[in-house]
Amino acid sequence: MKIFTDPIELQKHCLSWRNQGLTIGLVPTMGFLHDGHLSLIDMARASCDKLVVTLFVNPTQFGENEDLGNYPSDFDGDCAKAKAHGADLIFAPAPDAMYAPDHATWVTVPSLGTHLCGASRPVHFRGVCTVVTKLFQLVQPTTAVFGQKDWQQLAILRRMVRDLNIPVEIIGHPIVREADGLALSSRNAYLTESERAAAPAIRQGLLRLAEKIREGERDGHKATEFLTNEYASTLPMGTVDYIELVTPDSIEPVTTITSPVLAAVAIHLGKARLIDNILIEV
Ligand code: AMP
Repeated sequence: MKIFTDPIELQKHCLSWRNQGLTIGLVPTMGFLHDGHLSLIDMARASCDKLVVTLFVNPTQFGENEDLGNYPSDFDGDCAKAKAHGADLIFAPAPDAMYAPDHATWVTVPSLGTHLCGASRPVHFRGVCTVVTKLFQLVQPTTAVFGQKDWQQLAILRRMVRDLNIPVEIIGHPIVREADGLALSSRNAYLTESERAAAPAIRQGLLRLAEKIREGERDGHKATEFLTNEYASTLPMGTVDYIELVTPDSIEPVTTITSPVLAAVAIHLGKARLIDNILIEV
């Protein structure tokens, strides 16, 4: 397995693969790999000749008071895991290799970014779209795999790729969870023992909301109020960032539930901001 830090070296290498007619799978990550990331890697591995995994804590997708400086890392562990799961190449650039001091070009998909994480993290998706576009240009992947845990990110990237005619197939991977239902996240490392013990309530609340909607609740406001009350009683140590019902593809708020709806939440639990979601068919 090769390890690259220089974007131009990476691009040369990947272009030579494409010129040989090889397909390339890409799994972008911020590192500190867990089984969720590894499932994405396995999925990509199965559908391409060459597999590139990126480890890059992208500074432009973090707001000023977020956890950029504390984001967990384990470079050697990540390389060993990626290698064991069949990666051909790791790309782990330094921030200044990705962004020139006078970097001035941004990719945005504003209409899908006004709700959920876009509302509470104003620069986040601009940073994500820009870095993913750069990775697509560097790696020239035929397929790229992203997790449904970041559902809004996946919807935005699908729209970006369609609108800009980027020749890559975007694949969404279901959320990988702990046995007790907590979605795997690098940020789970921030949780204390008691926060970790309480955290599965995030998923349980979403499941109860799904049941309520399947039983006939059609009022979007009442549905989100129900979940707010659930968390107030089952997760009193958490602070709600958002609880929203949106359309799955265009991420617009749903007031009356008439078609499949995405219920998405972000909860601050101690130092961690945890997100989760559920697609509810009606
Ligand atoms: P991150 O390192 O958090 O930026 O995540 C890199 C990729 O892994 C993104 O596409 C995430 O959606 C995906 N991912 C992270 N956690 C999970 C999970 N528990 N299940 C599925 N995909 C995940």
